[in-house]
Amino acid sequence: MENGEKQEIYLPQFVADILTHHGGLVENGEQGLLEFVLPPAMAATLKIAEHGRLNFTYADIAGEAIDASYDSDLFTNIAHFFQEKGKWATATFPPYEPGTEKIVKTLRERLSLTNAVVSVGNIESGDIFYLLVYFKYAAFSDERQEGIVGVLLQEKSLSTAEIQGNGQEILEKLSQGEVIPPCTGDDMGRDISIACKVAEGMVQQRTEDLVKSLERRLNRDVKRVCEYYETLKQEARKSLEKKAIAESKRGSLTENLEQQIGDKLHAIGSEQEWKIRDLISQYALQVEIQPLAAVRIKTSSLIFHMAIKRRLSTRKFALSYNPLLHQLDRLPCEACFCPDGNSYYVCDEQLHIVCSNCLARCPHCQKQFCRACHPSGCSKCGK
Ligand SMILES: [Zn+2]
Ligand SMILES: [Zn+2]
Ligand SMILES: [Zn+2]
Repeated sequence: MENGEKQEIYLPQFVADILTHHGGLVENGEQGLLEFVLPPAMAATLKIAEHGRLNFTYADIAGEAIDASYDSDLFTNIAHFFQEKGKWATATFPPYEPGTEKIVKTLRERLSLTNAVVSVGNIESGDIFYLLVYFKYAAFSDERQEGIVGVLLQEKSLSTAEIQGNGQEILEKLSQGEVIPPCTGDDMGRDISIACKVAEGMVQQRTEDLVKSLERRLNRDVKRVCEYYETLKQEARKSLEKKAIAESKRGSLTENLEQQIGDKLHAIGSEQEWKIRDLISQYALQVEIQPLAAVRIKTSSLIFHMAIKRRLSTRKFALSYNPLLHQLDRLPCEACFCPDGNSYYVCDEQLHIVCSNCLARCPHCQKQFCRACHPSGCSKCGK
C-alpha cells in the first residue's frame, strides 16, 4: 500500500525529531511503534503519559499504544506545542565558510544567466538569515497520500531550497540560546507565502504518481462507461425498430419512430453524461497544505556581491554560501520561487531574475513578458 509506506517514512521520524529536540527520549519498538520517555512538562502539553508507545498506522495494533496518525489528538497537540513555543521559533546554526578559491571556481556555472552578464565583486563574511518552514500535506481522492515537506528560504536573496527527508541534520545543529530579532511582519508574510508556493510545487511533484494513477483509472472507467452506454443505445434502437416492424405486420403504423428513438437515445445519453461527471468527481484529487512550524535561523558565511548587467542597465545582487546545505545558494526565480529551474534569465524592465517558465511567451499574443513584473497577466495584450 502506497499510503502506508509514505506515512511510515515521514511521520514517525518527524515526531521523533520533535520529541528529542525538546528533551524526550525515543526508540523504535516492535511493530513500527515508537517508544518514548518525556519530560513532565512536555507530556502535559501533549496530553499523554510520560512514557509509552506511539502507533503511527491506522491499524489497531496494540490496545495501549497511543494513536499518532495525522488525524490523531496527539498530532493536533504537537501543533499546539509549536504555537505555545511561538509557532515562529528562532535559532542559530553554526557558521561555516568554505575556501573562497574553491567556491569562486564553481561560481561561474552556478550564477549563469542566459541573457545577462554577471560579474562577481566583493566577497565578505556576514550574518545570514534563513527561514525554515515545515508543511504537512494530505492529498486525497479514493486514495490518500500524506507527508511533510520542508522549505528553506534565504531572507535577503529569496533563494529557496527543498529540505530533503525531514532535515534532521539541520535540526540537530540548531541551538536556541541567542536572542534573535524577529523579522518585520510584512517580510514574514511575504516569506511564508513564498514558502507556501514552493511547498505546493513539492507536493505536486510528490503526488505526480498518484495523479497519473487516478487519470489512468478515470480513463479506464470512462471508456467502460462509454462502451456500456453505446451498447445500450444500439439495443434500444434495435428493440424500437423491431417493435415497429411487428406492429406494421399487424397492420398498424408506428407513429414518429425516429422521434421515439431520438428520445430514448437522448435519455440514455444524459444518464451517461451524469455517470461520467460522477466518475470525474470520484477521481478528483483534493490537496490540503498547512504550515506546521517555522524557524528563523541566524547563521553566517560568505556573501558574494555581484553586478548583473543587461543591455545598459545594471542591478546589484548578493548570494550567500549556505552552511545548512553546504552549497552556494541557488539563484532565485523572483516570480515563482521554485528552486528547480535550470536556466535563468533577466527581464528587461526591472532586471528580475526569472526562470524560463516565468519569461515565457504569452499564449495569446506570443510576446515574451516577465511574471515578476506582471504577476496578473500579459502586459502586452492584457490577457
Ligand atoms: Zn519561475
Ligand atoms: Zn521583471
Ligand atoms: Zn499577451
